[in-house]
Amino acid sequence: MGRVKAIPVLVNGQEGYDIRVTDPQATVQDYLDAVNYFIDTAKCYRTRKPGTDSCFGCDLCCQERIPVTLIDVLNLAEGDFEKFVGQMLHVYVEGRVVDITMGLDESGRCRYLDSSRGICGNYGKRPLVCQTFICCPSTRNANKLREEIINAGEDELVRKWFEIKTTDNNLIIHEGVLAAPDIRDYRRTPFAGAASYEQLKLKDVCTPRLWNRIT
Ligand code: SF4
Ligand code: SF4
Repeated sequence: MGRVKAIPVLVNGQEGYDIRVTDPQATVQDYLDAVNYFIDTAKCYRTRKPGTDSCFGCDLCCQERIPVTLIDVLNLAEGDFEKFVGQMLHVYVEGRVVDITMGLDESGRCRYLDSSRGICGNYGKRPLVCQTFICCPSTRNANKLREEIINAGEDELVRKWFEIKTTDNNLIIHEGVLAAPDIRDYRRTPFAGAASYEQLKLKDVCTPRLWNRIT
């Protein structure tokens, strides 16, 4: 029995999902397992691809902004964090705001996408945002949970990014507009010190209000 469940529900009359947590010790990995299981097995209404029960062969959500968390990057970088940030991610800084996302190729698609087959070329390690996105309706609680985890993971990635520098001692910035980032804008999050989603308790990344609503 999983500690987190993605439950089929009707949202505005269409088949979607809600999230329930059944064990206070549940981890972010439990949440990922639940959503992955739902995507693989449940019938839901795919708003971008109506009339199908599978994402297979569709790459519509692999060609837009793809935010990443610190743990995603640790999973993907295979030990060379700095090189991965420089070559595979896109760091955009506008004023004090830092936005780190997956880098896209010239056609605007994720660099991991196998375009000839419309499938992810790194499926087992794909970021949390990819694992938890399905274009079906979802409840306010399910959306909020996903948002809170992603926001915390993004902020911790930015904190880590401040630690790495180019050979001429600059921050790695691929695109900037009046860039003036300041680490004081990014508070430590529960992602700090966690090397995997198994190590991250769901309760720690949720606001108390949301936690009460999903347990
Ligand atoms: S979730 Fe993404 S891959 Fe799946 S049907 Fe929707 S747009 Fe396509
Ligand atoms: S990592 Fe995979 S699933 Fe995620 S956007 Fe890239 S190709 Fe798509």
